[in-house]
Amino acid sequence: MRESFLPYGKQWIDDEDIQKVIEVLKSDYLTTGPYIEQFEKDIASFVGTKYAVAFSNGTAALHGACFAADIKEGDEVITSPMTFVASANCVLYQGGKPVFVDVDEMTYNIDPGKIEEKINNSTKAIIPVDFTGQPADLDKIMEIAKENNLIVIEDAAHALGATYKGRKIGSISDMTMFSFHPVKHITSGEGGIITTNNEMYYQKLLQFRSHGITREHDKIKDNHGPWYYEMQFLGYNYRMTDIQAALGSSQLRKIDRFIELRKKYVHLYNEAFSNVEEFTTPFQKQDGDSSWHLYIIRLNLEKLKVNRKAIYEELLQQNIGVNVHYIPVHLQPYYQERGYKQGSCPIAENLYEEIITLPLFPAMTEKDVMDVIRVVKSVISQYRR
Ligand SMILES: *Cc1c(COP(=O)(O)O)cnc(C)c1O
Repeated sequence: MRESFLPYGKQWIDDEDIQKVIEVLKSDYLTTGPYIEQFEKDIASFVGTKYAVAFSNGTAALHGACFAADIKEGDEVITSPMTFVASANCVLYQGGKPVFVDVDEMTYNIDPGKIEEKINNSTKAIIPVDFTGQPADLDKIMEIAKENNLIVIEDAAHALGATYKGRKIGSISDMTMFSFHPVKHITSGEGGIITTNNEMYYQKLLQFRSHGITREHDKIKDNHGPWYYEMQFLGYNYRMTDIQAALGSSQLRKIDRFIELRKKYVHLYNEAFSNVEEFTTPFQKQDGDSSWHLYIIRLNLEKLKVNRKAIYEELLQQNIGVNVHYIPVHLQPYYQERGYKQGSCPIAENLYEEIITLPLFPAMTEKDVMDVIRVVKSVISQYRR
């Protein structure tokens, strides 16, 4: 038992963050002011791209990327079932059809070996997810995309600060999305961003985020006068506020420390659990450096007297804020009602029965980590077969 509840993830806000937000509140602009551009510059320079476009949240950013990629009715987009619903929903928003490709047994990332069999004339894009912060097999995915003329929109909500073969995540795919929800690496309250090197995508994203409206003279067809703006397609109000952007920039300054702490705690978990046979610890690929958004253990149910639910409930009872990432998207009722079948992604479905996410966030202390280790070990030994 742990004396107080420990969540699985949580933001870390310091006085510097608070001062930055106050600065905006006292300034002339609360939204679409100078802090947005600054935050976009900060993220673009952090990942190494020419452009970044901030959105009100990560899901809106994914929607924008699908629009910029010209995904429309009848188009198919390949993604992983082992993700948050947003990775697939963004395709539905555009009238497209998400197509799920099962994950790799070890990494839980989309299995590139199974992508090509799902490609047909309607396939337009691939949305790989860097699950838990571990980069997907991006070289293979980019190669498949190139051969088949597909656009790659990377869902890197878990992977700010991760690298793949020495390259920063955010600089590899055609467009990459990061989320700034409070459980993610850095937060802006709610928030998201697309990074890209493609100027056409950049322009489309900017306009999409604000109703499809432009004020730029060289893009305007008519011109009634200095007040004039043109709505040229149906966009949305997906703008981030300056309050959020200032918080985001302030948080980004601490990203290296945040990731260092995550890695330190992962190391402590791995060491402590190395001789436990009732579950496996996360597999680490050698071609990338994970930014460790999530620490997921996989139960070996043959060695346990109870199922995942019982272990989960016991850990929760003892104040360890466990979670499950994720319920495979194609199993959600909305998807089931639209013809997606149980059994279509057996590896992800099996995995779902056996996984538990343990608390991992920089603001936790080493004592918190030790509490998790102690409680997990004692619960597991209680149910050992
Ligand atoms: C958090 C998350 C999103 C969506 O981000 P929001 O900012 O919450 O809209 C998308 N995909 C994955 C994998 C996520 O974890």
